[in-house]
Amino acid sequence: MSKVAVRGTLLDCISNPWDCAQEKQALRFIPDGVLVVEDGKIVESGAGSEILVKHPEAQVEDFPGYLIVPGFVDVHLHYAQTKISGSFGRQLLEWLQTYTFPEELKFTSKDYADEVAAVFFQEMFKNGTTTVQSFATTHPNSVIAFFEEARRQGALALCGLTGIDREGTAPDAYRDTPQGFYDGSKELLERFHQVDRCLYSIAPRFAFGSTHEQLKMAGRLAEEHPDCWIQTHLSENPAEVASVLEFFPDCHDYLGVYEKYGLVRKRFVAGHSIYLSEDEFRRMGEADASVAFCPASNLFLGSGFFQWDRANHFGVRWGLGCDSGGGNTLSALRTLDDAYKVGMLQVVTSDREKDEESLRLSACKALYAATLGSARCLDLEQEIGNFE
Ligand SMILES: [Zn+2]
Repeated sequence: MSKVAVRGTLLDCISNPWDCAQEKQALRFIPDGVLVVEDGKIVESGAGSEILVKHPEAQVEDFPGYLIVPGFVDVHLHYAQTKISGSFGRQLLEWLQTYTFPEELKFTSKDYADEVAAVFFQEMFKNGTTTVQSFATTHPNSVIAFFEEARRQGALALCGLTGIDREGTAPDAYRDTPQGFYDGSKELLERFHQVDRCLYSIAPRFAFGSTHEQLKMAGRLAEEHPDCWIQTHLSENPAEVASVLEFFPDCHDYLGVYEKYGLVRKRFVAGHSIYLSEDEFRRMGEADASVAFCPASNLFLGSGFFQWDRANHFGVRWGLGCDSGGGNTLSALRTLDDAYKVGMLQVVTSDREKDEESLRLSACKALYAATLGSARCLDLEQEIGNFE
């Protein structure tokens, strides 16, 4: 049994700064602090003078002058797009056809998936991110490679087989079938869910790419596995939204499609959610569902601005995603830098009623978004997000 006392300046969030009378109440700052780590888990944290005497056997590792914060949590990205990050000049639907599907088709090969997964996790750790929820591709090998590498490198990792079966929305060789999606998801889920730090996330890519039959299968998986996560995309780009409403004429808005198949619940994490109506935000809040805010991607693909003041108003939990490769970075800090700009830009580009104070992303709110806020978005705040 190994016990280590990591000593330095500790900073973490203990509550939501948007809910505090003064946002500094959300922070815990200990200039000379210690984290006691036993077999890789934090068992105690606090002032160095108090903690060290309680653990005399611990081996002290000193980091004077360093700020120690919790590992960042990324709630939405695509590890299989690591190599196409920063691809030039296309909006979402064209970008998928031009760059994304040709790259993701390579993940039929386990060797290729292994190679990308290894680089991906190394890069995430370099950037301080220790928890990721990622999409894979329609190929089981992409999910196997991702979870195997997460176990090797010790990341907390959520992932699942991507579902996309609608003709004309992806190359034929890339598309799966409703039954293939169900069977493949089931097999991977049984193999990896809750093994080490792996968690399974049922992943119909988006209502744009899935038929009624496939979303029905996704709903069946969600019903059979209420402890699993569900990740998808929602209301990212106006052309995508218009097509979804054409494909599902019986649903009066985009969220209504996922509701129809029983997907909108706790642990449902919807990427982007830029063009949600007030009523959709309200229903997300009531269902205890979450949003993945992906500012780097929303700016890079020119998708639009997520209205987090509205999400806050309706009690919708939201977290931060770099959404690589739509986002051109794997760094949580750079993603937060873009989040700040998204907040500021909304003040002048939208004439809806806004909560300008809520849209100013202070350093405290930014830290919360990348740590405890994202942990809450994933319903994992008991495990990760701060030092408690
Ligand atoms: Zn995405």
